[in-house]
Amino acid sequence: MSDVITIHDHNEIDFDRPGKALYEVAFHYDGTWGNALVPLAVINGTANHDRGGRVQGVACFGGTHGNEYEGQVAVWRLMHELDPAQISGRVILMPRLNQPACNSGTRESPRDGVNMNRAFPGDPFGTLTYRIAHFVTSRVFPLVEVVLDIHAGGRGVEFALCSSFHLVSDPAQYAEMKQVASLFDTPFVYIYSSGMARGLLTDEAEALGKVTIGGEFGHSSGVHQRGVRHAYQGIKNVLHHYNLLPGTIQRVAPERENPPRLVEAVDLEDYVPAPITGVFEPELPVGSAVEAGQFVGNLYDFERVGDAPLAIHAPSSGYIILQPFQAPIAKGDTMLVIGKEVKD
Ligand SMILES: [Zn+2]
Repeated sequence: MSDVITIHDHNEIDFDRPGKALYEVAFHYDGTWGNALVPLAVINGTANHDRGGRVQGVACFGGTHGNEYEGQVAVWRLMHELDPAQISGRVILMPRLNQPACNSGTRESPRDGVNMNRAFPGDPFGTLTYRIAHFVTSRVFPLVEVVLDIHAGGRGVEFALCSSFHLVSDPAQYAEMKQVASLFDTPFVYIYSSGMARGLLTDEAEALGKVTIGGEFGHSSGVHQRGVRHAYQGIKNVLHHYNLLPGTIQRVAPERENPPRLVEAVDLEDYVPAPITGVFEPELPVGSAVEAGQFVGNLYDFERVGDAPLAIHAPSSGYIILQPFQAPIAKGDTMLVIGKEVKD
């Protein structure tokens, strides 16, 4: 067991101390005495290998959504396994960023009802979730050039196993993010729309010019071994890539012959809302290739005995990146995302 330092005054975190330090960073509750104690590992490597001066630090987050566990598991393992004697540069790990939401197994914090991944850049005078987000923006982001945020689709939907990033306008940032995203060796690298939401952790990091990678590594509040493996080795591959950690980049799924397939869904038309509230019966697994107009599943409205199931068809050709997993789905919720292959 490692020593853990409890931090009330955030100025007392020594982000430059050589070696590894584990903290519980206290953020006071809004409505009662007490604190969310958010785990933080700061590793300042004591090895001194040549990193080419490119990247000084990498930050990695799990538990931005409390009911997504693959990132919590993978980042927690790395928090304990990474040896500062082997590392050159700085690695900052926050495996359970929205700690109250992680404890309750919910997407939003039960303390203030706020979704951490809509709270960025945060607010030092806001409610608990906004104050944690502000800590990340003001204390962590300035120390790193690479930001990794490990997600898992939340409760309702299943994503094809993917790393992801937004379409950014800077060609150098785009090229670097495309390469780093592929290090997770997921079947898909998914370029997603900025138009579906605002206030993401990745929005803020991207705007600051960081190499910013997200990803969906599981679903339905489970711990999927395959997803953990990609998240865990993917993060290590990123550390290898920038030579913060010596070693070679390893395939995670060597049985798959092709490299990660680059797909994009960057227009809001690519995000199909459920036309009615009902239960979706998928025809195909996520990741399947489909043609425009192809039947992909039935949607059942069990309140209307006279209605046959509503056949759902792919609006365009590509790959099924998202479809419902847990039933039922509400009218208006995103029901289907088709990713179109991006050719270099
Ligand atoms: Zn998430």
